[in-house]
Amino acid sequence: MSFTLAIVGRPNVGKSTLFNRLVGKKLALVDDQPGVTRDLREGAGRIADLKFTVIDSAGLEDATDDSLQGRMRRLTERAVEMADVCLFMIDARAGVLPADQVFAEILRKKNANVILAANKGEGRAADATILEAYALGLGEPIRISAEHGEGMGELMDVLRPIYDANVEKAEADAPDVDVDVSDDDDIDAIRVPTREKPLQIAVVGRPNAGKSTLINQIIGEERLLTGPEAGITRDAISVQQDWDGVPMRIFDTAGMRKKAKVQEKLEKLSVSDGLRAVKFAEVVVVLLDAEIPFEQQDLRIADLAEREGRAVVIAVNKWDVEENKQDKLKELKEEFARLLPQLKGAPLVTVSAKTGKGLDRLQQAIMRAHQVWNTRATTAQLNRWLTGMLEQHPPPAPGGRRIKMRYATQVKTRPPAFVVMSSFPDLVPESYRRYLVNGLRNDFDMPGTPIRLYLRDQG
Ligand code: GDP
Ligand code: GDP
Repeated sequence: MSFTLAIVGRPNVGKSTLFNRLVGKKLALVDDQPGVTRDLREGAGRIADLKFTVIDSAGLEDATDDSLQGRMRRLTERAVEMADVCLFMIDARAGVLPADQVFAEILRKKNANVILAANKGEGRAADATILEAYALGLGEPIRISAEHGEGMGELMDVLRPIYDANVEKAEADAPDVDVDVSDDDDIDAIRVPTREKPLQIAVVGRPNAGKSTLINQIIGEERLLTGPEAGITRDAISVQQDWDGVPMRIFDTAGMRKKAKVQEKLEKLSVSDGLRAVKFAEVVVVLLDAEIPFEQQDLRIADLAEREGRAVVIAVNKWDVEENKQDKLKELKEEFARLLPQLKGAPLVTVSAKTGKGLDRLQQAIMRAHQVWNTRATTAQLNRWLTGMLEQHPPPAPGGRRIKMRYATQVKTRPPAFVVMSSFPDLVPESYRRYLVNGLRNDFDMPGTPIRLYLRDQG
């Protein structure tokens, strides 16, 4: 195994649920292994191609005696000592509780390598906790739902550098050398996107849009099977490839779809595969068939990608067979603006997966979208910007109450998320929020990327 991940946190946040999800059915109970207490479970975990050891410290639910806190502390410390990295879990629905602070303190004292995860993160109810969680001082929280499998792509993103570091070291070192990544004690360091890391792309779209043909064309060999016929099985869920010198990992959604033998199942399956790929991707390429663009299914997946906060590129395929290219392009752009207003400014590129024409522009659009998605604005810039926005168009005064906005800051990237401190945040009308989001989009040059804006009570 490459590295060991310990899941820690107070009871009931969802540690076992995540453990079970990561380990799947191949759960190894460790009662009989030396050095592991009855309260710690260990298993072989996996997300996509990342394999690691997981320790679950959730053995305390039944403990009701008053030594609970002491035992919880000792158990957590033990788990931390056994692990290369700790996934510290809080409950996004419950908010940050005093018990969570106790755990944060243990982790800080132990100088542990920490990934902060806000679980039960499905739905809007979790938004507030995500922001609160920054105050734990453990870096950027990732939002997950252990029960629904959401956020596994982000989790993979933060684990991959640790995995890579350990695999490399393990290859270089003697096999029994204990690999330690915790000397890198600034946890943020592993979150900074490095260029060596491949850019993660998912190509999604309806059956026969040309996904397999496109991926073949990019990876330059007939590694994937193409063709309209169903029933072809492939195992690979992703391929890593340099695309003109840029490392990319491309998630293939067509492959699993072709496992479907029953025709009626096709649409449903390809949607759920697309869903999975979207979660793992940084940039989602929505591949449309020029003959039948913007079908219901295309719109659904594009919308999903936006809601999941992915960078989106629209690629219109089979452009080689299009006769009236100019009129068609105009028509496509109008349809795009009308049907997917939430993706305003996202690039629309015409390609022919078959001939390879337009793929250079597609690549550029992908890289640019990725860059925009990683945009970071400084607090000073944002505050200057906010002052200008407020002057140009002051917030309304609903019911005579004056809404004052004082301070703006960026709380995360990928996609960019901002907090504006405001009085009466609940009274700010949607139109004013849109004005601010559009302002951020234009003034910080972030076309087409999902932008999150949170208004918080300045108290
Ligand atoms: P542990 O004590 O930390 O191991 O927590 P469990 O894994 O036993 O989960 C506690 C409760 O939270 C259970 O009822 C789970 O079904 C529920 N739960 C776990 N993950 C999620 C999630 O992502 N969303 C929601 N809504 N509930 C969850
Ligand atoms: P997938 O189901 O999305 O993976 O689609 P495939 O890659 O299997 O392609 C479906 C069909 O469309 C095949 O017959 C391809 O040859 C054809 N096709 C794919 N891309 C193009 C293109 O750029 N131009 C034309 N004319 N046909 C294409």
